Amino acid sequence: MKEILYKSTRSESGTLKASEAILKGLADDGGLFVPLEIPKLDVSIEALSKMTYQEVAYEVMKLYFTDFTEEELKYCINKAYDSKFDTEEIAPLAEVEGAYFLELFHGKTIAFKDMALSILPYLLTTSAKKNHVKNEIVILTATSGDTGKAAMAGFADVEGTKIIVFYPNGGVSPIQEKQMVTQKGDNTYVVAINGNFDQAQSGVKAIFGDKELAAEMDKAGYQFSSANSINIGRLIPQVAYYVYAYAKLFAEGKVAKEQKINVVVPTGNFGNILAAYYAKNMGLPIDKLICASNENKVLFDFFKTGEYDKNREFILTNSPSMDILISSNLERLIYKIAGEDAAKNRQLMSELASAGKYTITDEMRAKLNDFYGNYATEAETAEAIQSLYEKTGYIMDTHTAVARCVYEKYTAETGDDNVTVIASTASPFKFTRSVMNAINPKYDTMSDFELVDELSKIGNIKIPAAIEEIRNAEVRHNNLCEVDGMKDIVKKFLGM
Ligand SMILES: *Cc1c(COP(=O)(O)O)cnc(C)c1O
Repeated sequence: MKEILYKSTRSESGTLKASEAILKGLADDGGLFVPLEIPKLDVSIEALSKMTYQEVAYEVMKLYFTDFTEEELKYCINKAYDSKFDTEEIAPLAEVEGAYFLELFHGKTIAFKDMALSILPYLLTTSAKKNHVKNEIVILTATSGDTGKAAMAGFADVEGTKIIVFYPNGGVSPIQEKQMVTQKGDNTYVVAINGNFDQAQSGVKAIFGDKELAAEMDKAGYQFSSANSINIGRLIPQVAYYVYAYAKLFAEGKVAKEQKINVVVPTGNFGNILAAYYAKNMGLPIDKLICASNENKVLFDFFKTGEYDKNREFILTNSPSMDILISSNLERLIYKIAGEDAAKNRQLMSELASAGKYTITDEMRAKLNDFYGNYATEAETAEAIQSLYEKTGYIMDTHTAVARCVYEKYTAETGDDNVTVIASTASPFKFTRSVMNAINPKYDTMSDFELVDELSKIGNIKIPAAIEEIRNAEVRHNNLCEVDGMKDIVKKFLGM
């Protein structure tokens, strides 16, 4: 098999093996790691259509993580995609009103982050072993709610790791907080900070950049790493479910050989849709990549005008995981459409850092033909949940509903009738209040768990274990610190 090496989007030289790129996360120059080339699928759709999720995942990941042995990679995959998921299919497809919802929320924390965060700990510890790293890996994460829980669920009790999560005190939903403070695992630590998410994030960055601390840590047998969404160890596992979805459609006779499909993705940091773009570039018959935004519609404007401009009001929506003004993973696409010109990409990214905006050239824009961008307002999103429920009984979460709205706008605008897969990124139980309010405002008076029971009843869906678990779970974490006390509490947890 052809070896795939990785380089930074911001420098001309220097390549790393997959395991080294996974360990490092982010390049020293601030760029993201990209494969020198996107490999082509080397098994037929017919063959893939007979495989399990784990087998398809192996066929995809083996092409990217070429310095892992077959045994190592299969170990990671089988540890990740096991009975933690509530269905053997791992990522089932639900056909509703002519489109296929690819349900990516059957993992531990009932959101799509589980698809990558359940395997990252194993990719990371295997990479550490391969590179003779003796230190224990300490994952530090700041979270606005979802990522922290999914990362902890992934790393809990994984040998050779510890994970410390900071969240803004009073800045996450009651269910999210309960999910975090009840987290099990002897290697998990959760801390509320008296500050907002940005302060938590800056605090974590400062700890990462603290050279003195790094030296002390090394002496004590520890080193930091990040579970951030820009890690190539999170991006590549996401390519697998697009291949799996296509193979499944083929197996069920929903698409003919080589028939193209469209993919709609509710987008924030641009990781999920970039994975679909990689799948397309691997030879999977995908036609349009439809990028759905909420009212924070930076990406819609970007696809329309060629200008990326984050200078605008930040809007808090009911699809909070998409409330993002800087889509970090977009840098990988920019690099690619700049003709893999690191200098050009570097220049645009430095404009983004200094002026908050940049404009791509016409030549670059011409390479974005595969993409279509649109957005949904809060009212349109709620209406989409309500009307699909009335018509079919199927209940979407708010993020998925944004995608479904944009799918409708796209088909109305273009008349394109390709078979369409909608990435369904969270269980409605994760955003129960917004979902139930959309269905009927009368529900607003109910408590969080009353809403859970009601959702289960009206949607005829079993309450996911992730929710059932926290109803009566004991609180295991009760840490609070000031913004300037973050470093001390990390040292305390590590016994330093
Ligand atoms: C993270 C997340 C998204 C956005 O995915 P990106 O890869 O950041 O674009 C969408 N929906 C949900 C529920 C998420 O948790």
